[in-house]
This record gives sequence, C-alpha cells and structure tokens, in this order.
Amino acid sequence: MATMEQKPAGVQAGAKTKVFKNFIGGEWVESRTGRTFENLNPADTREVVGIFQKSGKEDVDHAIETAKQAFKKWRLVPAPRRAEMLYKASELLIARKEEYARDMTREMGKVIKETRGDVQEAIDCGYYTAGEGRRLFGPTVPSELPNKFAMAIRQPLGVCAMITPWNFPMAIPSWKLFPALVAGNTAVIKPAQDTPLSTLNFVKTLHDAGIPAGVVNIVTGFGSDIGTPMVEHPAVRAVSLTGSTAVGRIVGQEAAKTFKHCSLELGGKNPMIVLDDANLDLALEGALWGAFGTTGQRCTATSRIIIQKGVYKKFVDELVVRAKKLKVGNGLDESVDMGPAVNSSQMETDLKYIKIGEDEGAKMLCGGHRLEGEGYNHGWFVAPTVFADVDPKMRIAQEEIFGPVVSIIPCDGLENAIEIANDIEYGLSSSIYTKDVNKAFTAMRDLYAGITYINAPTIGAEVHLPFGGTKATGNGHREGGIGAIDFYTEWKSVYVDYSDKLQRAQIDRPE
Ligand code: NAD
Repeated sequence: MATMEQKPAGVQAGAKTKVFKNFIGGEWVESRTGRTFENLNPADTREVVGIFQKSGKEDVDHAIETAKQAFKKWRLVPAPRRAEMLYKASELLIARKEEYARDMTREMGKVIKETRGDVQEAIDCGYYTAGEGRRLFGPTVPSELPNKFAMAIRQPLGVCAMITPWNFPMAIPSWKLFPALVAGNTAVIKPAQDTPLSTLNFVKTLHDAGIPAGVVNIVTGFGSDIGTPMVEHPAVRAVSLTGSTAVGRIVGQEAAKTFKHCSLELGGKNPMIVLDDANLDLALEGALWGAFGTTGQRCTATSRIIIQKGVYKKFVDELVVRAKKLKVGNGLDESVDMGPAVNSSQMETDLKYIKIGEDEGAKMLCGGHRLEGEGYNHGWFVAPTVFADVDPKMRIAQEEIFGPVVSIIPCDGLENAIEIANDIEYGLSSSIYTKDVNKAFTAMRDLYAGITYINAPTIGAEVHLPFGGTKATGNGHREGGIGAIDFYTEWKSVYVDYSDKLQRAQIDRPE
C-alpha cells in the first residue's frame, strides 16, 4: 500500500475507485477533516485498492464518545448473548473468506493462501471466544466469617482503544475485538494506514452479525494524526497496541499518564536453533517457511538461524538452493510463494539492512536486491536473501528488519545456541530442531521468549494459547486464550453478609 503522499507518478484513482468511510455509531461517515488517502496494491501500485478517510482528532473524539454511550447498554447484555453474535460473525467470515482474502492480498501483498489463513485465524478466534461467553469464570471461595458469601466477578472496563499493524490486518483486530466484546466492552479501532480495507471488512462483519450500533467503531488514518488522541482520551480505559517497539514505547508512556490498562505486542528477532541431530530436511522446510513466509513480515518471522557446526555447511548450501527457487510475485497468483514488501518504505528498510549486512562482513549467499523486470516493475519486490557466517553481535542479527532477509549464525552446541538466542533485545518466538528429548526440554526451559516451538519454525501460533513476548516485545500481557479475557476485564470482589449483624473481618474470629 502507499498513501497519496507516497504515490508513484502516473497513478490515478479512477472514477470508479471506491471511497470507504469511517464506521461510527452504526453509520458509515466521512472524516470531519475532509481529507482522504489512497491505498495502493504493493504488487502493482497502478491499482488503487480504495480511497480511505484520513481522520483527525475530531473523528476520534466522536468515535470514543459514541462507544462510551454504547457501553451503557452493551455491558448489560448477557455474555452468552454477546457470544452468540461472535459465533455468528465467524460463520459470516467463513462465507466471505475468499472475498476478504483477495482484498487483503490486494492491499498488503501477502500470498492468497496466507491471507486465507489470516481470515481463518479471525474465524478460529471468534469460535473460541464465543465459548468464553458461557465461562468468564471467577472464584467463589469460603468466607472466614459465618453466614457470609465471597466471590470475585469479572467486569468490563468500558471503551477500549485498539491500534493495529498491517501484517495481520484481520487476525490481529480479531484477537483484540472478540475478547473485548465478549467481556462487555465497547471499542474504537484504528487499523494501520496500509491495511484499512481488511479491518473495515472485519468490522462490517461484526455489524452484520448483530453487534449493536456504537459498540465497535473504526477510524482510519495515520498513527501520527490519531494515535495520541486515541491513547490520551480520558474516556478510554484500555489501550491495546500491536506494532513496533518504537511506537510501543510512545503509547505505553502516554497510556500510563491516565492509568489505562495497556497491552503492547511489539517487535521480534526470532531464533531457530538447528542441532546436529535434527531432521535436516524438516528443518530446511521450516526455515524456508519461517524466514520467507509473509515476505518475512511477521513479528514471529524466523530471522536468525543458529546452526550447530556439524550440519552447518550442508544446511546453508541447501537453504540457498531452496531460497533461490522461491517464486516471488503477485500473491493473487496461486503458484507464487512470496509477495512484495508492504510499501516502498519497508522495501527501502530491507535494502538498507542488506547493505548493512554486507558492510558488516556477513556472507550474502543469495538475493540482496530489488527484483526488476516483467511482473516486478510496479511493485515493491525484494529477492529472498540469505546471509551466512553472521556474528551474533552484527546489526542484521540484532535488529528487526521485517523483510525477507535471514541471518545464519554458527554455534558449538545447545548451550552456546541458547546463549546466542537469548542475547537479544526481543523475546517473542523461538524454536529448536532436535531429536533429543533432553535437549528439547532444556530449550523449552531456557529460551527466554513468549513462545517456543519444537521441530517447527518460529511461526504458527494458535488462537487459544497465550501470544506475546518478553523484554522489548511487550509489557507482560498476552493475547490469545484466557489472557486476553484477563486484559479486557477487571476483577471485582463481592462479599454478601447474611448474618444480620456487623461482622468485622480479621477482628471477629469465630471459634
Ligand atoms: P507501527 O508501529 O509502525 O504501526 C503500528 C500501528 O501504530 C499503526 O496502526 C500505526 O498507524 C500506529 N501508530 C504509529 N505511530 C503512532 C503513535 N505515535 N501513536 C499511536 N499509534 C501510532 O508497526 P507496523 O509497521 O504497522 O507493524 C510492524 C511492527 O509490528 C513490527 O515491529 C512487528 O514486529 C510488530 N508486530 C508485532 C506483533 C506482536 O504480536 N508482537 C504482531 C504483528 C506485528
């Protein structure tokens, strides 16, 4: 996607280009700023996917006030009823899966089988969370006093502000919206400026599934214009951001000023360890998928491969053979393995890091350049790039690139591999390939990350387990599973005294 500011010369939105509006209070409305931006297909920037509202603070205030009003009724709808609407949303998504997957590939470039997976993740999340509508368990405990009842119940927070990235433009909004809604919250969501259409498609589906007007609102635009107004608004009780560590630092500090719940899901630099005893073919298959799936634009992408010396050469040689065979192109073509970078700026970042890797003395074995020629000239394509003999301290081994560039690091054995894996700012995902159960369990215990895969690459999370990371990857919260419900609820302890007399806790101590 590119915005109007980034639009290459000669691109014109045709008269038929669809204009998409914000969705506030159950209505499709234009931004009060009167400004719009264009969403271009990164595989072919001559195609304008749509024109979207470039919202400002006034739109955010409108949406938040609307969500605040809607909360009064929505919090009182029984959770199992709310859950039925989420279930219905999943069913509608199944019917619309192909259409929404195609829209997503057009706006952010991911290949069609992966955008189908993105929609599927939202479907899975809806079904899972709908089940929670009949649970939302809280503890009931014996009181220390007679004729007294004690329990804790979950309460919704109120208006939740959600800010999302472009790489999973339907799955990530679903991880936030479904648990927030089932718990009785209302929401304002701002998708990344590169992928407003997929999130609009998702919000439209929620509306069609019966979620009442005002409960979910979407405001499109740029983080620099509307990020801060969303985070600092006094009516917002929770902020959930998935994005870069740099933006997380800003959002976390802003949210802290007004004591909001704040969940930050940020960057990663994820290691895959391959030991001498690994099933090498399986590890190679995993490495290729982990490093170049989604064009390397996953927070969990396999961006460092740490290989024991006994299999190092064989692994590297074969990985390069396979990386060179990947078919890069427009993701709507079913035979394509890898799509473009999401926008020109991400492509420039990829190329900048390739140059850094060369300057640092890493051995570039394939890729390393922008792709040109038929099918590539109007898109942001970078060839799959493999760097070998990378020193763990090099910038290409330490910093998140978010592109199809993988760094291969030799290691002596398990202990050394774990040391290298952990010696990093981030702690999102990790993986190890070994047939030795003792080594696998040691890695499970010692890799300091939110996720560890055994004999699988660093990508492939499922919606019902906690998702998130350690250190600069976040602030300790988890999405997915019950952790998401914990984030979107607050505990209230309730004591019911039916003794008909004053009973003083800790003071009156019945025999
Ligand atoms: P980004 O940080 O540039 O943007 C994320 C969102 O924040 C966008 O909606 C953007 O408009 C908004 N934003 C930008 N500036 C803001 C500000 N000052 N205040 C409030 N909001 C602002 O990230 P991106 O490029 O969209 O996505 C890529 C990043 O997201 C990578 O670092 C990746 O690792 C991370 N990510 C993390 C996870 C995870 O779960 N840990 C998942 C996916 C992506």
